[in-house]
Amino acid sequence: MDASRFPNLHVSQHPLVAHKLALLRDKATEPKKFRELVRELSWLLGYEAMADLTTQPITVETPLESMAGAELEPKVGLIPVLRAGLGMVDAMLELMPSAEVWHIGLYRDERSLKPVEYYNKLPDAATVQVCLILDPMLATGGSSAATVDILKHWGAARIKQVSLIAAPEGVATLSSAHPDVDIHVAAVDRALNERGYIVPGLGDAGDRQFGTFAGPSSEPGHDPADETAEVVRRLQRNLAGEP
Ligand code: URA
Repeated sequence: MDASRFPNLHVSQHPLVAHKLALLRDKATEPKKFRELVRELSWLLGYEAMADLTTQPITVETPLESMAGAELEPKVGLIPVLRAGLGMVDAMLELMPSAEVWHIGLYRDERSLKPVEYYNKLPDAATVQVCLILDPMLATGGSSAATVDILKHWGAARIKQVSLIAAPEGVATLSSAHPDVDIHVAAVDRALNERGYIVPGLGDAGDRQFGTFAGPSSEPGHDPADETAEVVRRLQRNLAGEP
């Protein structure tokens, strides 16, 4: 993918990120280690994503004298996309203990890959200025674009997406819907496959964190694969700039 098409995309160049990401992808990495790696990678990506937050001057009393210090200016909200985004929250709270955590529940319809909202308890007016959407996998970009819609409507002034791995299709979808949203990732992979998974990717980030490998049962008499594959083909045509 030509990353220069997406000025809002920030792919970490940190060697620790590359090292931990390879361990995370490995199919032999079991859920306990996987969760630790999600947490460590979230910390590192969160650190990079917050590099441009503003501070305001404060005075600090050290044991020896007063001096000029700084405190974070904006209030920050963390928006984990359920359920896989939950594993990224603790690391972000370590970085910013006073951040608020707001849950928005969107599930990806298995056939259409479209996001469906099932939980949203945001208060009427925004209580934070900066929102970080946390989702390990930026796949179709549909859930993220829908979450940004909700947060903008809520009144958030600045929104960033933090993901471990992105698909080019997801970056294109989110960037064209919301060019003002910064996207911070550890890697952009080759593509989505016909089932909507990022390849090479790491599989299902929720299942790998929570050890739920049985998978959902499919509806009798319905083959979701055709519809899903058509959605992926449409996203790939959009990415290539085809009608
Ligand atoms: N969600 C995942 O967990 N993995 C993918 O590859 C795509 C979406």
